[in-house]
Amino acid sequence: MPFRVAVIGAGWYGCHIASSLASLGFAVTVFERHHRPLHEASGNNQFRLHLGFHYARHHGTRQQSRDGFLRFVERYPNLSAEVPENVYAVPRGTSLMDFATYRLVMVSSGIDFVELPGGHPLLRDIEGALLAKERVLRIGQAREFFARRLGAALRLGCAVTQFLPDAAGVTVNGERFDYAVDATWGHHRPLPIAAYYEPTLLLYYEARGPHPAITFVDGPLPSVYPTEDPAIFTLSSVTHTPLGRFARGDAARAALEAVDTALVAERRAAMEGQIAANLPGFRDAFRFVGVQLAIKTKPEGRADDRSCYVFQEGRVFSVMSGKIDTIFFATERILALIEAQHSLAPIAPTPGLREDILTPRP
Ligand SMILES: Cc1cc2nc3c(=O)[nH]c(=O)nc-3n(C[C@H](O)[C@H](O)[C@H](O)COP(=O)(O)OP(=O)(O)OC[C@H]3O[C@@H](n4cnc5c(N)ncnc54)[C@H](O)[C@@H]3O)c2cc1C
Repeated sequence: MPFRVAVIGAGWYGCHIASSLASLGFAVTVFERHHRPLHEASGNNQFRLHLGFHYARHHGTRQQSRDGFLRFVERYPNLSAEVPENVYAVPRGTSLMDFATYRLVMVSSGIDFVELPGGHPLLRDIEGALLAKERVLRIGQAREFFARRLGAALRLGCAVTQFLPDAAGVTVNGERFDYAVDATWGHHRPLPIAAYYEPTLLLYYEARGPHPAITFVDGPLPSVYPTEDPAIFTLSSVTHTPLGRFARGDAARAALEAVDTALVAERRAAMEGQIAANLPGFRDAFRFVGVQLAIKTKPEGRADDRSCYVFQEGRVFSVMSGKIDTIFFATERILALIEAQHSLAPIAPTPGLREDILTPRP
C-alpha cells in the first residue's frame, strides 16, 4: 500500500513536493487555507528564478541555485520566461565587495555570464557590470498548472487546525497519514531552528518602454526586476524592503496589516532615491502603480544563507526555504529520509560460515 502523505501549504514547496510524491505513487493530500495555490510568499515576491548571482557571500546557496535553476527549466519549461536583458552591477563605494572579487566568485562557481566591459549606458558610478541569464517566474501559469496537476488532492480553503503526530504517523484534521510535510515556511508550527519573520514591502512600477532588469550587488542595495507581465516591474531594496523582525508569524502579519499610505510614501521615497543614485533615469523610466506585502522567514544568525533545509521529527518533515529554485533539493531530502527510515529493519546475522565461501578440502 502506498504511503499516505499530508502536505500542509500550497506554496511553491508544497505544490512541487506533493506533485513529485504523487508521481512516485504516494497518496498525497495538500491542505491550503486560502482559496488558490501560491497565495502567500510564493505569489508575492520578486519572481526571480535565481542562478546564484545574488549570493556572492554564500557558496552553498550559489551551488543550490545554479543546479536548481537548470532543473527548474527542465521540469517546468512553461513556468518561467526569459528576461531579455538582465544586468548585475557593482556600484562604487556602496558594495561590500569589489567588482574583481565578485566576478572571480561567479567564475569559480561555474555560473556563466557576459561581462559588460564599458559598463552600461543607463548606469553611473559603477565599478563593473555583467549580463546574467536569469529568468522570471510565471505565477499565473504556475497556479493553473498546480491546480490541474494536483486535482482533488489539493484541498483549498482548508486550514489545518488539528495536527497530532505519533510514532506511526500523523493525524491531520481527523484523517490518518503515514507522514506529514509542513511546507508553510514556519507559519503552521514553529521551525526546529531559531528563525524570525520579516514583513516586507515591494513596490510595483509600469515601465514607460522596454527596460533592462538591474540588480546592484553586493550588500544592502536595490534592484528592479520584471514580472511575468514584461511591462510591470518590482522595485526591491535590501535596506528598505524589510519592515521589522518578529519572533512570531502572527506578529509579522499584524505589522503588515498596519502598513498605511504614509509608510508606503516614506519607503517609496527611500527606495527610489537609493536606486536613482546609480540608475539616474529611474523616475522617468517608471510610473509607480502599487505595493506588494509578504512575510519572509529567515534563520537566525545566518544572514547570507538562503539555502534550503529539511528537518525531520519522527513522521513530520519541515521545510525551510530561502528561494524557489531549491524545491528539488527539498523533495529529494524528504524521499531520502523516508527511504532511510524504511531500510532500518535489523538484518539477522548469518549463523556460522557463509555458504558461498568455499573451504579447501581436507
Ligand atoms: C519580498 C520577497 C521577495 C522574494 N523574492 C524572491 C525571488 O525573487 N526569487 C525566489 O526564488 N524567492 C524569493 N523569495 C522567497 C520565496 O518567496 C520563498 O522562499 C518561497 O515562496 C517559500 O515558499 P513556501 O512554499 O515554502 O512558502 P509559502 O509560499 O509561504 O507557502 C506556505 C503556504 O502555507 C499555507 N498555510 C500556512 N499555514 C497553514 C495552515 N495552518 N493550514 C493550511 N495552509 C497553511 C499558506 O497559506 C501558504 O499558502 C522572496 C520572498 C519575499 C517575501
